[in-house]
Amino acid sequence: MKKIHMVDLKGQYQAIKERVDSAISEVINSTAFINGPEVRSFQEELEAYLGVKHVIPCGNGTDALQIAMMGLGLRPGDEVITADFTFAATVEVIALLQLTPVLVDVEKDSFNIDPAAIRKAITPRTKAIVPVHLFGQAANMDEILAIAKEHNLYVIEDNAQGIGADYTFADGRVAKTGTIGDVASTSFFPSKNLGCYGDGGAIFTNNDALAHTIRGIVNHGMYQRYHHDVIGVNSRLDSIQASVLRAKLPNLNAYNNARRAAARKYNKAFEGIETIITPKITKNCTATTNTVCDNCNCHVFHQYTLRIIGVNRDALVKHLQAHDIPCGVYYPIPLHRQKAYADARYNEADFPVTNQLIQEVISLPMHTELDNEQIDYITQTVIDFVTQ
Ligand SMILES: *Cc1c(COP(=O)(O)O)cnc(C)c1O
Repeated sequence: MKKIHMVDLKGQYQAIKERVDSAISEVINSTAFINGPEVRSFQEELEAYLGVKHVIPCGNGTDALQIAMMGLGLRPGDEVITADFTFAATVEVIALLQLTPVLVDVEKDSFNIDPAAIRKAITPRTKAIVPVHLFGQAANMDEILAIAKEHNLYVIEDNAQGIGADYTFADGRVAKTGTIGDVASTSFFPSKNLGCYGDGGAIFTNNDALAHTIRGIVNHGMYQRYHHDVIGVNSRLDSIQASVLRAKLPNLNAYNNARRAAARKYNKAFEGIETIITPKITKNCTATTNTVCDNCNCHVFHQYTLRIIGVNRDALVKHLQAHDIPCGVYYPIPLHRQKAYADARYNEADFPVTNQLIQEVISLPMHTELDNEQIDYITQTVIDFVTQ
C-alpha cells in the first residue's frame, strides 16, 4: 500500500507535472514575475468558473479577508459577527483592523455558523457577518442573507475551504460559494482544494465600485501611479503562482469529485457504527442527509470530519498514528478561549455546540489521490478501535 498522507500534493503534482513545469518555466523566461499576464488570465478564468464579476488576486487568504473588510470601509468599533469554530485567520483580521469580533456558536450538523446565534448577537454597532464555509460546505446563506437584509449588514464569505462548492437556495437557484454575499475571500494555500505552490489568495465580488476600491487597496492605495488615495497594503499573487493555478483550475471539478468519491467510500464503511457520526449534507440540494451527491458540488470536502461519540478521541488519534495514518483535529480550542481573543463578554454557556465539537471532531486523510486500498485500511483501523 502507498504511504498515506493527510494531503498528497506530490501525487497530484505527478499527474500534471508537464503542464505545471512548462507554465512555471514560461514565467521565468518572460521575467514578468509580478502582475504578469498570467495573473490577469487566471483572474479571468476564475471569474468565468465562479460566475462572479470580479476576482482580485492577492497574497494569501488572510490578506484577502482583511482587504475585503478595508474595502467595505469598516471602522474601529464596528462589530463583526463570525463563527467561534473556525481557523483563527478569520477573527485575527477583524481584531487587527480594530473592529470588534463577536464570536457566536455553530450548528452541530454542518459545523457552520448558527443563524439563530447571529440574530442574538446583533447590536446597533453590528456592521457585518462573516460566514465561513467550513470544511467545504456552505453555511446557511438563505438565513444569513435574510438577517443581513433585515439589519442592513454586510456579508463577507470566508471561502478558503469552499472553493468550487455550490449553494442551492431554498428557491432552487444555485450559486458558487464566494459569489453570494457582498464580498468573499479565498486562499490558494497549497493544501486548499485549489492550491498553488506557495502563498496565494483572492477576493471576489459582484460589486463594481467595491472591486475598484479593492484593486487600489491591494496596490498601496494607488488608483493612479504614485497617487495614494487611501491607505492600502502590498498584497499580490505572484505570476508563478498564477501559472500553477491556471494549470490546476481546469481540474478543480475533477479534484472535488475525487474528494467526494473518497467521502462516499468513507461514509459507506462507517454505516451502522453507532459511535461515529459521518459528515452531514445540510443544504437544499437533492441529497438526503448523510448521502454524498453524485453530480452536485454541495460539499467539496476540504476536510472529511467525523464526530466520535463516547470514545476517547485522543486515544483514537494515537491509535491511528501508530498505524501510520495521519489525522487532524480541526479545531481543538474554540476562538473564544484563545488568549488573543478572549473577552469578558463571552460566556461558556453561549457556546454549547462548539464546546462539544472540539471534543468530538477528527478529520481523516482527504485529498484527490486516495485509493480504495488506503480507504479500506483507514476505515478498518478506525472501526477496530471504536468497536473494541
Ligand atoms: C486557510 C484559511 C484561511 C487563511 O488562508 P491563508 O492563505 O493561509 O492566509 C482563512 N480562513 C480559513 C477558514 C482558512 O481555512
